[in-house]
Amino acid sequence: MADRYQELTLNPLGRTIAKRAGLPTPPRLRRYEPGQALVEGPVLVGGAPGGRVEAPIADVLHAAGVDVRTPSEAGDERFGALVFDATGIGSSDELRHLYEFFHPVARSLGPGGRVIVIGTPPEDCRRPREAIAQRALEGFERSFAKEIVGGATAQLVYVAEGAEAAGESTLRFLLSAKSAYVSGQVVRVRPPADGDESAPEDWERPLAGRVAVVTGASRGIGEAITRVLARDGAHVVALDVPAQGEALSGVVNRFGGEAVQLDITASDAPQELAEHLRERHDGVDVVVHNAGITRDKTLARMDESRWSSVLAVNLTSQERINDALLGKRGVLRRGGRIVSVSSVSGIAGNRGQTNYAASKAGIIGMVQALAPTLVRQAGTINAVAPGFIETEMTGAMPLLTREGGRRINSMSQGGLPVDVAETIAWFASAGSGGVNGQVVRVDGQSMLGA
Ligand code: NAD
Repeated sequence: MADRYQELTLNPLGRTIAKRAGLPTPPRLRRYEPGQALVEGPVLVGGAPGGRVEAPIADVLHAAGVDVRTPSEAGDERFGALVFDATGIGSSDELRHLYEFFHPVARSLGPGGRVIVIGTPPEDCRRPREAIAQRALEGFERSFAKEIVGGATAQLVYVAEGAEAAGESTLRFLLSAKSAYVSGQVVRVRPPADGDESAPEDWERPLAGRVAVVTGASRGIGEAITRVLARDGAHVVALDVPAQGEALSGVVNRFGGEAVQLDITASDAPQELAEHLRERHDGVDVVVHNAGITRDKTLARMDESRWSSVLAVNLTSQERINDALLGKRGVLRRGGRIVSVSSVSGIAGNRGQTNYAASKAGIIGMVQALAPTLVRQAGTINAVAPGFIETEMTGAMPLLTREGGRRINSMSQGGLPVDVAETIAWFASAGSGGVNGQVVRVDGQSMLGA
């Protein structure tokens, strides 16, 4: 559904009125198109003394054709991104290096600019003082993300020792327009398991030659995931319930791949899907658990079927499918990727959604519980937690609830299905073997939850 308020404030008169009234002025977000430059404008790269990643990052950026500057070369230009290596920070007084790097250029970030701070995972630090300082980076980054305007984003990436080369796919995603609606996030990158790659052959088609399954693919976010994974080179097995058969065929006609009509809650669905993947493709590389439903009511008014249907579709079916994929005769190939769609409701809770939030928090539990299992197969499992995304689901909300949902984030607008899809594609990428057990919110830095 069109965001009429945003359209109004994008014209100069509407913008002036909104600003005078102290109302939000949601910027137009830059979104990815094939062939687009990674970043718009030069990138300022700096670091605290003794950092481990500044040099590898500069190399990656140079190789990607980016105009890289150091603080001593900075003039009064507008930067496409500010990237700071904080891995050298070993104590709280050294946090001043953040201030010294960012303060002079805080106003020089162009529209849709990117801020990336890179640290060492605090749990890996040997000395308490270093762990404390590294943990402090989160507060800095989450707050700076709320201060920068014009669709700019800020993220913190904790890169473990030995994972310096594995961070490229994450750096590319966070710098690019693919992460338009992702801000204020913390991501951990670890050395990929033996046998997983750290870089795809072609960054424009990181899923070339791979087979991906997407559940709930006939519309909304699932349709966008199908389109983006196909764009990235995957052969997509698009799955949805038989009642959505016509819409599902339409998706496959538009983006290629094949349709599978299946209710994922059926008792034999996991085996049927596994058999299909084994017979047709001799396995699968990427599984995206996207299908989900809401049946909202406060707990006191919730009948049993609302409770059980939401848990069955949103959580139990995913566990059962994972069992079939990962078991002894499992079809998930080495280097496989499982990505699940959680929700901000599963993090912050939401009135009227005890069933839904339980299912979506359970997904976070599933990702954390299965991450070590996936490492043993040189694979990964991660989740996205969307906030307010413009779909049929949110279009059906009452006007005031919808308006509230759109504005309570740093971007003052809802995200698009493609924003969720791009984040999933980053997790699914052949280059993302170092990203495992993570939950990333796609919510424009929602004010709900931590
Ligand atoms: P949607 O209702 O438009 O699409 C969901 C799809 O899942 C539908 O095509 C539906 O037929 C399919 N599905 C439902 N039950 C199924 C079953 N038993 N077997 C197979 N397929 C089934 O919803 P959407 O907005 O595109 O949401 C997609 C995912 O994103 C869901 O998991 C949802 O909870 C999550 N999410 C959405 C938002 C949002 O703002 N739209 C926010 C947070 C999370």
